[in-house]
Amino acid sequence: MTDKSISFIRSLCAGEIEQSVLFPYPKMAVEERETVTDVVAAIDSLLEDRGDDLRSWDEAGEMPPEFIQELSDFGLFGLIVPEDHGGMGFGNMAYSRTLQQIARHDASVAVTIGAHSSIGMRGLKLFGTDEQKTKYYDRLATGEMIAAFCLTEPEAGSDAASIRTTAVEHEDHFLLNGSKIWVTNGGIADFFTVFAKTGEAEERSHLSAFIVTTDLPGVSVGPHEEKMGLRANATTSAYFNNVKVPRENLLGPLNGGFKVAMNILNSGRSGLGGGCVGAMKRLIALSAHHATEREQFGRPIGSFGLIKQKVGHMAVDCYAAESAVALVASLSDQEYDDYSVEAAITKIFASEALWRTADEALQTAGGGGYMRENPYERIVRDSRINRIFEGANEVLRLFVALTALNDVGSV
Ligand SMILES: Cc1cc2nc3c(=O)[nH]c(=O)nc-3n(C[C@H](O)[C@H](O)[C@H](O)COP(=O)(O)OP(=O)(O)OC[C@H]3O[C@@H](n4cnc5c(N)ncnc54)[C@H](O)[C@@H]3O)c2cc1C
Repeated sequence: MTDKSISFIRSLCAGEIEQSVLFPYPKMAVEERETVTDVVAAIDSLLEDRGDDLRSWDEAGEMPPEFIQELSDFGLFGLIVPEDHGGMGFGNMAYSRTLQQIARHDASVAVTIGAHSSIGMRGLKLFGTDEQKTKYYDRLATGEMIAAFCLTEPEAGSDAASIRTTAVEHEDHFLLNGSKIWVTNGGIADFFTVFAKTGEAEERSHLSAFIVTTDLPGVSVGPHEEKMGLRANATTSAYFNNVKVPRENLLGPLNGGFKVAMNILNSGRSGLGGGCVGAMKRLIALSAHHATEREQFGRPIGSFGLIKQKVGHMAVDCYAAESAVALVASLSDQEYDDYSVEAAITKIFASEALWRTADEALQTAGGGGYMRENPYERIVRDSRINRIFEGANEVLRLFVALTALNDVGSV
């Protein structure tokens, strides 16, 4: 029986190689793999010939409600909801593989599904009571309810513990006041996981998480943000004005919200990593094709060493990112106690690998890469955010380094 308290990286920093975490390399259960194969094929059939639509939604900065309904009808909002509540019951390996396939086609669609499952309703899955799950799971599975995650505020980004939204405890409810920015899915969500301060002003870490549904009086959202990328996704502010949040909507322990937020982000990171891998696979295929077809100086540009090197680097990055993302997803599926450092490392690596790949793919396409009629410029715009959201890479690097130093220092 493997010891589930082991962290490969924490051990590595102390000079130990924990082989049992890596070997045998984890696999999805056969039944789950078969379902994922079917889902992947269904995603291709849904998105394959939608290139013109996807481009026009990016230009318009909006995804039509009819298309979101199609995503619901395909069951894509139910990926991580247990089967007995109408979902697919996917573990993180299967979930990550599914997001990978969506992201091969379009990042705005991937982030719409991802924000719902990776962070929007992940708190319910990890910390929800049976009553909360019974109340919301079925509607979240069908897409009747779409979920979003509300942590960031104008004055609180990387320093999440400094949020100013407050939830003041009353007998049967908490009175919620404050505002959040850049909420992915904000314009289409009905179910918000909201973080608010429940301790005294000086108690930075005393946050709590709440389920806040948009039918509660005092909840409102702002207009769609004009963004560089992920333009078809409805990113908005969210406002909470004297919202009476029923006591039973507290998610996880009172004053334990910081840990809830970090657990959600750790568990959800294999979704973001999967999305990065999916985009890389598409870029590699585009670049390999272009390098073979495009001739300059009387021969295909792919015959030049510098272009071969670019495609080679892309393949190396993609292979390494996919291996690491799948491994970390499996750590969560195997219920390892703590894989936060590993999750941070894969988020950093996959997001930066995608950024390098997108840049070099556009370069390989030359001037055509810069033109809107081709997919490269949109993928470059869409890719950039991965280094910023769900934990900015600088802050995650600090976390990795501090964990290593603290662990070694405490031996
Ligand atoms: C399109 C989009 C969608 C988003 N979706 C959501 C969402 O659904 N829900 C949500 O809650 N939030 C969301 N966010 C917010 C996102 O998570 C934050 O932007 C992110 O956490 C960084 O915070 P910030 O932008 O305030 O940057 P800041 O924290 O102000 O950081 C600015 C820069 O300083 C660096 N930095 C900060 N602290 C340190 C340090 N100690 N050492 C070194 N460097 C440091 C950062 O890495 C960054 O490069 C979204 C943002 C965008 C742009």
